[in-house]
Amino acid sequence: ESAALYEELTSARDSERADRLQEGLLSLLAQLNEAASNAGDGSERFASQLAAASRRLTPAMDAEAITVLVGELGRYTESMRQSTAELVARVRDSQAEVALLKSQLNDAHSTALLDPLTRINNRRGFDLAIANLQRSDPGALDAGTLLMADVDHFKRINDSYGHLIGDRVIEAVAQVLVRTTKATDILLRFGGEEFALLLPRTATAGGVAVAEQIRAAVGRVRIVRTGSGEPLGGITISLGVAGAIAGETMSAWIERADRALYRSKQTGRNRVTTWVPSD
Ligand code: GH3
Ligand code: MG
Ligand code: MG
Repeated sequence: ESAALYEELTSARDSERADRLQEGLLSLLAQLNEAASNAGDGSERFASQLAAASRRLTPAMDAEAITVLVGELGRYTESMRQSTAELVARVRDSQAEVALLKSQLNDAHSTALLDPLTRINNRRGFDLAIANLQRSDPGALDAGTLLMADVDHFKRINDSYGHLIGDRVIEAVAQVLVRTTKATDILLRFGGEEFALLLPRTATAGGVAVAEQIRAAVGRVRIVRTGSGEPLGGITISLGVAGAIAGETMSAWIERADRALYRSKQTGRNRVTTWVPSD
């Protein structure tokens, strides 16, 4: 219920932001267009003034007439220089504006798709990455493996050291996941201290090897209290591994990996379990 409400609120905020970005872009384009067409009018006028001046320029012209003509040419050139300078200034301003819009667009994008604590995908980012993969490499998922990971006794860490340390543990685990995976792998922070990792075109055995690497790397993480440098107890993580079954929905796949993870918890934690059909 609250998740749905949250989703609705963030969607509403995203679309407001998108509207603002679009307005910004439209007004920028209108300004540029105006400056460019002013400069365009100016240059057309300049060209016809030059043509008219050259028609007036005859061998019979006396010095005074030539002086007048040169004076006129000077004014035409000055007015042309001004309208071009205006365009150049507008273009320069708009570069800054475009950079700002770009960074706002980036922010909007990451707010919508990334978990703010770990900067890895939230569910929406995960689903989008999967949809993109299905388009670019159909079949990659059916040949893939899904890992579910959950920090062991995380409640205890929060209770003993507080939520700020808890958050640092989550960040450290996320860093391990990022370091252990390839750019083509798709990561997700599923909830509090739970993560999913989709390995495209990776058989179950490969997934188990990655899961073991993650488990070992998390075991080596050392968290120390800022200031005192006091070392805190180590952390462990449990994982579940499930190879793809062709035609299965994402949620059924997650469910199987989750069951394997649950087995890891039941059988003592700090371990990797592979889903088997009897589960
Ligand atoms: P298990 O080994 O069975 O996984 O035990 P656990 O204590 O890790 O599992 P449980 O699901 O009971 O506890 C998860 C706790 O994580 C509950 C909640 O207090 C905490 N938590 C959830 N989200 C966050 C978060 O974003 N930051 C912090 N610091 N704690 C969180
Ligand atoms: Mg949990
Ligand atoms: Mg846990």
